[in-house]
Amino acid sequence: MIARVVRAVILAIAVIAVSLVPTPARADERVVIPDACTVTHPYDAASSLTDLKSGIETNWGFLLTGKYWTDETYRPIVAVIWRTLDAISCTPYLDTLHAKVGALELFATSIGGWTAGDYGLTKADAVSLDFPQLLTNYQTDPGHVSRLFVHEMTHAYTRDRSSNPAYWADFTALYAKNGRFGSYGSSASETFSEVVGYFVARCAANNPYTVSEAAYYDFAKNEVFGGKEFGPALGQPVACDATVQDSSGAYESANAAVQAAVADREAAAEEIAANGAEVYGYESLTTDSN
Ligand SMILES: [Zn+2]
Repeated sequence: MIARVVRAVILAIAVIAVSLVPTPARADERVVIPDACTVTHPYDAASSLTDLKSGIETNWGFLLTGKYWTDETYRPIVAVIWRTLDAISCTPYLDTLHAKVGALELFATSIGGWTAGDYGLTKADAVSLDFPQLLTNYQTDPGHVSRLFVHEMTHAYTRDRSSNPAYWADFTALYAKNGRFGSYGSSASETFSEVVGYFVARCAANNPYTVSEAAYYDFAKNEVFGGKEFGPALGQPVACDATVQDSSGAYESANAAVQAAVADREAAAEEIAANGAEVYGYESLTTDSN
């Protein structure tokens, strides 16, 4: 009996030891975001998508819906979302978000037109992400996927802005002085989402963060992310090309996947029209707004 217990304990220790060995990043993966946090849940390319989906729910407190989470075609998108959440997990962002909206729903779907994501438009109270669209973006700008995900999630974060909490009062004062950030968005709400999205996705193409945007950068750093930064200080070069590029053809199937999703998009467009009353008044971020 005791021997059996000892064997069980040894086995348990062995299992823990194996599970603690981090999975090294694959050589063909690009740096999507520099981590602010020490990686606590390394993305494991050998994990099934079912496990990754439930991992995102249990590790970081989201509710994942929609069929694309477990579709291998979209693994690169799931991986970016996983790594983005891990990278921000040591900052106050997720706790603040969950305190406002609980377990936020992330709906993997396809949305009509060029819209790649929205909060509350396609589905009430959910961040909807257009996985076929994002997979297309991923091929040329993987950082865009991270930026867009954070941008839309941040619309949920600012859901309480009508009560003018301190962070919002500070931001709108800054916005009144500094105006738009980058080329997208013409409201304080859109600008806030962009300021936060690009702060995390330092490697996204056409990132507006130069030293001339120090005011927005410092706001995101100090009032949203508890002083943490995703990469070196503003103005220092960010090592986004530190790893080998993806081999060409790795995402050959992307265009076919997009074509296959056209029918889904049309259905989604009808759904959006039918749910017009649920519109929260947010613009959605389109891919031609880089
Ligand atoms: Zn937006």
